[in-house]
Amino acid sequence: MPDSTIDAQPTLPGVFGPLRGANGNVRITGPCGDTMEFWILIQDGRIHRCTFTTDGCSSSLACGTAACTLASGAPEAVAFELQPEDVLALLPGFPEAEKHCALLATNTLKAAISDYRKKNCPAESCASCEKECDSRKEKPVEGPVPVPPVPTQSGLSDVQKKIVVLSGKGGVGKSTVAANLAMSLAAKGFAVGLLDADLHGPSVPTLFGLSGAHAESFGDQIYPVQANGIKLMSSGFMLDHPDQAVIIRGPLKIKILEQMLHEVNWGKLDYLIVDCPPGTGDEPLSVCQLIGSPDGAVIVTTPQEIAAADVRKSIQFCRKLKLPILGILENMSGYVCPKCGETTHLFGQNGGFKTAEKYNLAFLGRIPFDPNVGLCGDAGHSYLERHGESVSAKAFETAVEQVLFALKKEF
Ligand code: ADP
Repeated sequence: MPDSTIDAQPTLPGVFGPLRGANGNVRITGPCGDTMEFWILIQDGRIHRCTFTTDGCSSSLACGTAACTLASGAPEAVAFELQPEDVLALLPGFPEAEKHCALLATNTLKAAISDYRKKNCPAESCASCEKECDSRKEKPVEGPVPVPPVPTQSGLSDVQKKIVVLSGKGGVGKSTVAANLAMSLAAKGFAVGLLDADLHGPSVPTLFGLSGAHAESFGDQIYPVQANGIKLMSSGFMLDHPDQAVIIRGPLKIKILEQMLHEVNWGKLDYLIVDCPPGTGDEPLSVCQLIGSPDGAVIVTTPQEIAAADVRKSIQFCRKLKLPILGILENMSGYVCPKCGETTHLFGQNGGFKTAEKYNLAFLGRIPFDPNVGLCGDAGHSYLERHGESVSAKAFETAVEQVLFALKKEF
């Protein structure tokens, strides 16, 4: 195969070959004539291990490997939903003509799960099992995306406090706040991690000047990238091409988020800051549920009155999840002229403050708009280090103190 993603003389991957003790197994020959066989071991609703063989070419081998990698560790229902696009998302540059191999891989995986279901049907005698038992039928997903239970052996077990940074919509400075919160806590001597859970717009690599960096993995653990004394993890460190994120679908998204939380060796941390996807939909919901029980949320907004509606949604979101709200932070709150010191309210005034008052929540302060915030972010520099004396940097620091205070009050 001409593409560099797959060797011309591939060495066999670790997931190639029969699996001893498998409780699901099937062999399928695709229309192209390639035969694939999958073995799965399902325990407690999760794919504990998944292996395969194929008599096909290296494309078939690559797709089988990708499907097994995605399925291993995933909840049974999530693995059952894997689609050829999920497999191809792991194989950038995969030749168009060979894409049927991805379909064969996901179909064979699905059939192996069905085989497990047939053998483990909860009904005593269920004639319909030949098709699919009613009690096992995949139901259309309504409402939130199904979220797997948090694994007991978690990469988060030595993390003291987990803080999620939320916003009702994108572009309000959520990632900037998350990054500066992490940098400020690290500068105070705390052991800090920052997880960029925004899969569609990962910004941590840029904010820390690490575009193109990759997270290393050893054995079954992924090691965070480190900068400014902070342990960083982002899908930007896991995907070969930034464009790949655009085509990530539900099951793969959950798998990546789960990996970034629980398969990363976070080690001992005082604080893990999680930059959540924007909004109050399935994605931030999955992140919060996968974390287990975050210790608190910081809600970021801009000061317009109109933004208050988004903040209200974020408040409802936290209340539904019983997630303590540490406070509301108003970002881009006025522009202070560096020459005359006069403040211009570019994006309205007081929206965040009034909402905090109305809902009896802590107000974490106002961060004025400062063009250096954007310049430092784009260049991967620490704004707090370079412009520590600015009004905005001081406001960031005050907000961090308020967050620490709110955390103490909360617990
Ligand atoms: P979000 O994560 O909410 O989408 P970002 O943190 O990516 O938002 O910020 C959006 C843009 O606004 C970025 O270019 C960032 O540099 C800029 N920005 C954020 N906060 C400020 C601020 N206080 N002053 C100036 N620019 C800011």
